[in-house]
Amino acid sequence: MHQLTLTQLQQGLANGDFTATDIAEHYLSRIEAHDPQLNSFITITADQALAQAKAADKARAKGEAGPLNGLPIAHKDMFCTQGVKTTSASRMLDNFVPPYNATVVERLQQAGMVMLGKTNMDEFAMGSSNTTSFYGAVKNPWQPDCVPGGSSGGSAAAVAARLTPAATGSDTGGSIRQPAALTGITGLKPTYGRISRWGMIALASSMDQAGPMATTAEDCALLLNALAGHDNKDSTSATQAAEDYTQGLQQPISGLRIGVPEEFFPETLSSGVANPVRAALSLLEEQGAVLVPISLPCLAWVVPTYTALVAAEACSNLSRFDGVRFGHQCDNPKDIEDLFTRSRSEGFGANVKERILLGNSMLSVENYQRYYVKAQQVRRLISQALTEALQEVDLIAGPTTPDVAFGFDDKQDPVSMNLSDTFTIGANLAGLPAISFPVGFEQGLPVGAQLIGGAFKEAQLLQVVHQYQQATQWHQETPKLGAAQ
Ligand code: GLN
Repeated sequence: MHQLTLTQLQQGLANGDFTATDIAEHYLSRIEAHDPQLNSFITITADQALAQAKAADKARAKGEAGPLNGLPIAHKDMFCTQGVKTTSASRMLDNFVPPYNATVVERLQQAGMVMLGKTNMDEFAMGSSNTTSFYGAVKNPWQPDCVPGGSSGGSAAAVAARLTPAATGSDTGGSIRQPAALTGITGLKPTYGRISRWGMIALASSMDQAGPMATTAEDCALLLNALAGHDNKDSTSATQAAEDYTQGLQQPISGLRIGVPEEFFPETLSSGVANPVRAALSLLEEQGAVLVPISLPCLAWVVPTYTALVAAEACSNLSRFDGVRFGHQCDNPKDIEDLFTRSRSEGFGANVKERILLGNSMLSVENYQRYYVKAQQVRRLISQALTEALQEVDLIAGPTTPDVAFGFDDKQDPVSMNLSDTFTIGANLAGLPAISFPVGFEQGLPVGAQLIGGAFKEAQLLQVVHQYQQATQWHQETPKLGAAQ
């Protein structure tokens, strides 16, 4: 059953081949058997899942089943879930049980989806390796001595290992696409504002965007149908009407212009990544797309620009964790200063503290003009360059990441870690939609390709990847897990 996509599970439910309860039981037993090795979940909500599955089966019996009714989902542990602990993988929120659902959670719940649990992640969504979680690192199901990527590493590993057919993630600088690439799944970061940020624990509010992670583009489209749309609880939610993202999937891609920036294939790019990505582009060309060589020199600036902005926004977002209102509170504070200082010192991990220091430095009187304002100006230039390029071509393509999954001991320094987001960050700075999809393997580890589209062109990204997945099998490859199930 776990080899089936969401779309196939949906058909099986409609045909009466199995019930939502059968599906929930199957995945819960897989989680029980395999998650101890992977650590992809922080919280498993078995009882709630079985109750939701039962309700979904009842709704179906009454003829009230929508397209997602009875299908399982796991949520990254930064989406607030009413009555279920939501930690953002931080000690700071180890005791936090939200009184409300994030819009993402609420919409999928209203659609009748069954939540299996909350997935592990880098602390406060900062990172590219899922090694900074208070609950321990997540392992890559393809090779347990390698990282699954981050920050949505738990969601990615769980989908890759088929412990859930789909999961939610968030992407501020690449956190859906980079782990999707490193685990061989499909992950979509929609246009900024396409999915509501309400109830998402913030990293950098001007870039944070939720999105679906699944094995296929078709499944991502199915989820986006429920997730996309205006939400008046989020002031930056887009008012543009959502579409039926599954409708255009079957359309051929002939005549589509795909820009290939030379900067996405630097000389330093390993051939293990470059070759499968180039082969994927050739296949799209065979399917009728036109490859257009382009140049985007602005891509050289994305990492420093993002690093300054994400730290500045993160430090102000994290100032709400003061030990007073919610989250970790130190024992026996002497006074209010001591309460703030010790609660924050104890609650945040080293990686988070580093960003708070950097962000406060960026926003200090001496550095504000020099770094923060400058970074905002460069962000505008990058955004303009990408938007202009997307007037000449329909999509921009390249690798998702410069390397395949790295070992737990590699890339310890923050600079080389940041560079692993070098191809993904442009889309965040410009607010554009982008998708990562599996295109091959290098030494047993998955390789991902990325497509970046024009604003609100999610349907086109999904269509191209769907056409590619109709002609290839990479998305069907599954890792061999330890214990049998
Ligand atoms: N790796 C990036 C960072 O640490 C991206 C994080 C994200 O997209 N949430 O900032």
